[in-house]
Formats: sequence, C-alpha cells, structure tokens
Amino acid sequence: MRILILGGTGEARELAAALTAAGVDVLSSLAGRVRRPRLPDGPVRTGGFGGAAGLTDFLRAEAITGVVDATHPFAAAISANATEAAEAAGVPLLVLRRPPWPADPAWESVPDIVVAAAAVRGWPGESVFLTTGRRDLGAFAADDGHRFLVRAVDPPDPGGPAPPRMTLLLDRGPYTVAGESALMREHGIGLLVTKNSGGPMTAAKLQAARDLAVRVVMVERPPLPPLPPLPPGGSTAATVAEAVSWVSAGIQPAGG
Ligand code: NAP
Repeated sequence: MRILILGGTGEARELAAALTAAGVDVLSSLAGRVRRPRLPDGPVRTGGFGGAAGLTDFLRAEAITGVVDATHPFAAAISANATEAAEAAGVPLLVLRRPPWPADPAWESVPDIVVAAAAVRGWPGESVFLTTGRRDLGAFAADDGHRFLVRAVDPPDPGGPAPPRMTLLLDRGPYTVAGESALMREHGIGLLVTKNSGGPMTAAKLQAARDLAVRVVMVERPPLPPLPPLPPGGSTAATVAEAVSWVSAGIQPAGG
C-alpha cells in the first residue's frame, strides 16, 4: 500500500499526519504555488506532474496503490487530472472535500469570479473585501469605482492585473470573528467577495459580515469531475476520518 495525497489544504495535512502516524507509506504532493507552504508530515514532492498523462506515469513509476485527491475545492484542473490518471493507471481514487458553507439567503451566490466582478461593479458602495486569492485579481482590474482590501497568502505577481485602488494584506488564517469584524470596520467594508471554500479556518468573516450587515458575494464551487467507474473506481469523503477509513479498508485483507 502506497498512498499519494494531492494536497495544499489543511485536510490533506491532517490526513498525512494520521496516516504517517499509523505507519502507512504516504507521499504528499504540493503544486508549489505558495512561497512558504505549511508542510505535511512525511515525504513531500512539489510541482506539477505534466497533466493527466504525467500523473498517470507518476502513479506507475512510484508504484502508487491509492490516490486521495485532497486538493482545494476550487482546484478543478488537478482534480480532473487525478480522475483521468487514476482510471488510466487502474488505481483507486478517493476525493476528500470538506462540505461547502451552508447557503445563506442573504448571500448573492455567483457561479464564477467573472460574475462576481460584475456584481461588484454594479454595487453602489465604496469598499470591498476580496478574499478570492491573488490569481483572481485580474477579474477586478477594470474596476476603478471601488476600493479593494485584498487579503492573500502571497503577494500578486508584480505588474500583473489587479484593481487600481487596492490595499494588500498578507495573511493566511485561521481567523476569529472579533478579528474579522475589527478589520472590516477599520476599512469601512460594505461588501465581501469570497469563494465557498467551506471549513472553519476562514469562516469567521461570514459571521462578521452578518453582524455588520456587510453584503456577501459568494463564488460557488466548480463541479467535481465524474469519478472513475468501478473497478477500481472512485469515491468521495467529507472528513479526514472517512478518508482514514477508506485507506484502512484498503490495507485490510479481503474479508478482514
Ligand atoms: P489547479 O488549477 O487545479 O491546478 C493547476 C495545475 O497545478 C495542475 O494541472 C497541476 O499541474 C498543478 N497542481 C495543482 N495541485 C497540485 C498538487 N497538489 N500537486 C502537484 N501539482 C498540482 O490548482 P490551483 O487552483 O492552482 O491550486 C494549486 C494548489 O493550491 C492545489 O494543491 C490546491 O489544493 C491549493 N489551493 C488552491 C486554492 C484555490 O482557491 N484554487 C486555495 C487554497 C489552496 P500539472 O498539470 O502539471 O500536473
């Protein structure tokens, strides 16, 4: 049994820690986007595989016997590649996805960042809190009618497209409701734009927005690719504990 965890999330790190502690042979993979990533326990490799074909080759070369796609819910390309590669290499796949935040009727839900940017352009207020990530800033580059407080883990590429009136805040959470409320008050925020990442690490801003009557534009998740058919197939898990059970079931001898 040798498990490849496609990571870049807190759940991926928790899973690597649990499996490593249980003595499972685990390899974690990171894209290499973040300058100082939080590293999981156990061995880690970094960088793209070269599409689905590259990942298929990697699974074979590394004698991987199970893949857990524990990437971020908005990392659609790697999830599609994982599905294709797992099927091509005949390796079982588990997709570990934390549940989205439950819908709030007060939110304006939008399907993608382009529609979110259009919603912001039509908003008559002044100050926008943008937490959708540095690589989505281009969607707001033509908006000179608003002030943007942009919070991201790493700075945007120098010279890359970004809103003209932007204050950058580098931070990575977890956050508290008190801290988020203070930040939104300090910057006079009237509108929050966020992705529906789910999970507790970044949820405090939603409660703070409720408390302060700040509008919310919520970018909903891209759909998951269809899982490979059986056998060996694919399945999904919502929690790290479920993923540990899935791996453990693969370790047990048949009927054990
Ligand atoms: P993406 O658009 O789905 O992936 C783009 C390419 O990056 C993939 O085709 C793959 O390159 C490479 N890649 C992505 N995740 C990888 C991994 N775990 N290991 C090795 N290569 C990987 O992904 P993304 O949105 O850029 O996200 C990149 C990473 O950041 C992911 O690991 C994700 O979990 C994490 N993350 C993303 C977000 C977000 O909002 N998108 C937020 C927090 C964390 P090749 O085709 O060359 O293999």
